[in-house]
Amino acid sequence: MTAPTTPYTELGEALGTDFFSVRDQFTDEQWQRFADTRTFVDAEVLPGINDYWERAELPWHLFRRLPELGIVGEDIQGYGAAGMSPLALGLVHMELHRGDGSLGTFLGVHAGLAMKAIAMCGSEEQRQRWLPSMSTMDKLGAFALTEPMHGSDSVALETTATRDGDHWVLRGSKRWIGNGSVADLVVVWARDTDSGEVLGFVVETPAEGYEATVIPGKVSLRALWQADIELDGVRVPEENRLTEARTFADCAAVLATTRGTCAWMALGHATAGYDAALRYALEREQFGKPLASFQIVQQRLVAMLADLTGMQLYCMQSARLAEVGKLSPTVAGLAKMHNTRTARKILSEARDLLGGNGILLEHHVVRHWADIEAIHTFEGTETIQTLIVGRDVTGISAFT
Ligand SMILES: Cc1cc2nc3c(=O)[nH]c(=O)nc-3n(C[C@H](O)[C@H](O)[C@H](O)COP(=O)(O)OP(=O)(O)OC[C@H]3O[C@@H](n4cnc5c(N)ncnc54)[C@H](O)[C@@H]3O)c2cc1C
Repeated sequence: MTAPTTPYTELGEALGTDFFSVRDQFTDEQWQRFADTRTFVDAEVLPGINDYWERAELPWHLFRRLPELGIVGEDIQGYGAAGMSPLALGLVHMELHRGDGSLGTFLGVHAGLAMKAIAMCGSEEQRQRWLPSMSTMDKLGAFALTEPMHGSDSVALETTATRDGDHWVLRGSKRWIGNGSVADLVVVWARDTDSGEVLGFVVETPAEGYEATVIPGKVSLRALWQADIELDGVRVPEENRLTEARTFADCAAVLATTRGTCAWMALGHATAGYDAALRYALEREQFGKPLASFQIVQQRLVAMLADLTGMQLYCMQSARLAEVGKLSPTVAGLAKMHNTRTARKILSEARDLLGGNGILLEHHVVRHWADIEAIHTFEGTETIQTLIVGRDVTGISAFT
């Protein structure tokens, strides 16, 4: 055989991507989450996802499988949510992203951002009102923080909330909002025109004055839509203001929890790239021998493996710290920075090792290569994570 045509057939079987035996440390719950998600990805996601990605179409049939697998709701306890341990949660996101970044990010937005915002910043009554239907995905969530003029400095957001009797009136623009055009419950962050503080509101769509337009021409996470949102005098009842979101710090606390998950997402993409490169190098022959028999190719594969192993250890220890409540936002930022940077490197190598086939969707690598770009940017760019860690090691903030 000279040019493999059935990529991923052996995925997960011939791999040596666990050199430090991290899988031996999984509990039964963690194994089950990992195995169930892996089976779903191999059997249902990989066979058809490229077509959705190419057509920039939402794979609703795959989205709908997430509650059936019991993996919606992150670590939230009760309300029908998954209630996963930090390690199980990470493994689920890793596996979904090993399959497809759009699918994984869909869950990240719905559960990691929107549900977590309600769980962390809502009252008990609000949690009871919204979380059960979000756990079953009868209601879809979105998280609207970023604005056209404020991305990395979202702390300076300009969307306003003005109290009017027992309602609030929201005005402003949001950008890059995942699920913004399809969500039923959109968590909108806006500045109180009286106090100047950032508050959180749940906008139930359709709502008068709420308009979402899908951002066209995106070449990363193509099977997921992000929207520009206009809020033109949207009226939200006081009962939809998240009662425990009192300042921007409360919004930032939600983002700090998802930052660690981004490190797992990057690990999933990198694993997919390494797998495809290894398999291809074993099957593709040039100069009468498999590519894998050349010393330079072996050296490149081992360099990828070494990087991948480092990413696994970052993830594993982050999960251990989260389990005992010791994962600081800075350490989560370090893990996101390290893993997205390293995943980009691995995917670039993998794409090259597949030669011309590396830029064909059927070999999957180029999809991951494009998708990692979004993860590298969202929820705090690599540079912003670097500055967060830099502030910690020097005691000097370079960005405030
Ligand atoms: C696919 C995708 C999905 C997203 N989903 C959501 C979502 O669901 N909800 C939501 O609210 N947002 C979402 N976002 C927005 C995302 O969080 C922002 O894109 C991100 O925070 C960066 O903001 P920006 O794109 O405006 O870039 P900018 O902030 O303009 O940054 C541009 C460049 O400048 C660098 N930079 C910025 N400040 C500094 C500094 N002080 N020093 C040095 N360099 C600096 C950045 O690192 C970057 O390289 C999403 C984005 C993408 C791409």
